[in-house]
Amino acid sequence: MDREIGFIGLGSMGLPMVLNLLKSNLKVKVYNRTPEKARDAVAAGAQQMDRAADVATVGGIVITMVSNDKALEEVVFEKDGIGKKLGVGGIHLSMSTVSPKTSRKLASYHEQQGSYYVASPVFGRPEAASAQKLFLLSSGHRDAKERVKPLQNALGQQVFDISEEPGGANVIKLGGNFMIMAAMEAMAESFNLAEKNGIDRQLAAEVYASTLFNCTVYQGYGQMIAKKSFEPAGFQLSLGFKDCNLVLDEANSTKTPMPLASLLHDRLLASIAKGRETHDWSALARVASEEAGLE
Ligand code: NAP
Repeated sequence: MDREIGFIGLGSMGLPMVLNLLKSNLKVKVYNRTPEKARDAVAAGAQQMDRAADVATVGGIVITMVSNDKALEEVVFEKDGIGKKLGVGGIHLSMSTVSPKTSRKLASYHEQQGSYYVASPVFGRPEAASAQKLFLLSSGHRDAKERVKPLQNALGQQVFDISEEPGGANVIKLGGNFMIMAAMEAMAESFNLAEKNGIDRQLAAEVYASTLFNCTVYQGYGQMIAKKSFEPAGFQLSLGFKDCNLVLDEANSTKTPMPLASLLHDRLLASIAKGRETHDWSALARVASEEAGLE
């Protein structure tokens, strides 16, 4: 197992992940665009670097966990990016939720440099990241996927090998996020129906989540939607909107009708228009409540 790792992006997800790598006795060099946010990682033993490129060593591994496609391309391609620094045999382990297209572009760029790109988006919120309970998806070159597996195991509870084709893991991740959003909209509408009939929303949530819908998504988000409690955000609505757009882009380019994704897009857009972009993405449920005259 590689003992020295570079890590870029110490946001809600990246920070707890770095703390877990440090707990596994790895040496971690970190870079965050806003340097002050690296304080907790440094206090736990990480070495803070001034430029993204400085976390990379020739032939080493760098994990990225930044917001979106644009941020990911910046930390690779910009003058101070890791692109040219990873060198022959290096691996870029990319855990952000980005489009399959971006993964394919980066995989082909890294290949030209003699390095590898492994897409490894994750399921699980910051609490799951802290508890090493993430689910990780993996796509890319077989040997590179094998080499990063111990690191993935240090960060989560299970790794799913999706494909050699670099965008495969991103397709599965986007499909999963779409299903979460669809479940949130369905819960919002069902709980509204209960409330309109004088039945306690939390009772409705409890019945569903302890019977036919006995799983993490219905249990966790069910409580938030039943209580109409959307702050603080575990996953910001603006990031959910980014993911919904990625789903629709992929649906368009592969000619896959996803009418529900179009509805969810408008729910998220309405939420942003109402100033809720920093709320948890489950706040998309409020639009259905408003339409039902319940707010
Ligand atoms: P976050 O808290 O907003 O953190 C985003 C990170 O990206 C920060 O470190 C930020 O740096 C960095 N960043 C943004 N733009 C950048 C740029 N142009 N150049 C360099 N760094 C940049 O987001 P998060 O919740 O950790 O999510 C990170 C990724 O994981 C996203 O792709 C998200 O979709 C995915 N994800 C999130 C969750 C969740 O529940 N939160 C779950 C699964 C997957 P600054 O500190 O300087 O802003």
